[in-house]
Amino acid sequence: MRQKYQKRKTILMTAKKSGSCLCQGVRFEIVGTLNPILACHCSQCAKTSGNFATMSSTAAASLTMVSDETLRWFQSSETVNRGFCSRCGSNLFWKQTGSPDIYITAGTIDKPVGVRIAEHIYVASKSDYYDITDGLPQKDEW
Ligand SMILES: [Zn+2]
Ligand SMILES: [Zn+2]
Repeated sequence: MRQKYQKRKTILMTAKKSGSCLCQGVRFEIVGTLNPILACHCSQCAKTSGNFATMSSTAAASLTMVSDETLRWFQSSETVNRGFCSRCGSNLFWKQTGSPDIYITAGTIDKPVGVRIAEHIYVASKSDYYDITDGLPQKDEW
C-alpha cells in the first residue's frame, strides 16, 4: 500500500505539461517545476504581446521542443532573446544569456497551467490604458 502511494506521488510531481503556439508549428513539453507567473508591464513585452506579458519559468533543461519548425528568435537586448512563431506570431519564450531558466508565456501553456500570477514587474513602464487592480505585489522594476 505504501509503495503504491509513493509511486503515485512521484507521478504527480513529474506531471508533464504541454504547450504550443496558435498554429501548432511550435509545440513543447515541460517535465519539471513551473514557477509562479510574473506579469511584466515593460514596453518590450507590450510590443511583442500587444499587452502586458504573463510568463512562467522553468529550468531550460525541463523544456523539450516537440516541434520547432516555425520557432524563431529575436534578440531584444544585449543579453535577451525572445522566441516567437514565425507563422502565427505567438509570443512564446524569453531567455537571458547565461541563465539556467527559460520563461514561457503563460497563455501558450495548455490548461490547467497549475500556477498563477504572483506579482507585477516593471510597473513603472506600464501603459496608461489599464490599471492593475488584483491586489498582487507591484514592482517598478524586477
Ligand atoms: Zn505558430
Ligand atoms: Zn517585459
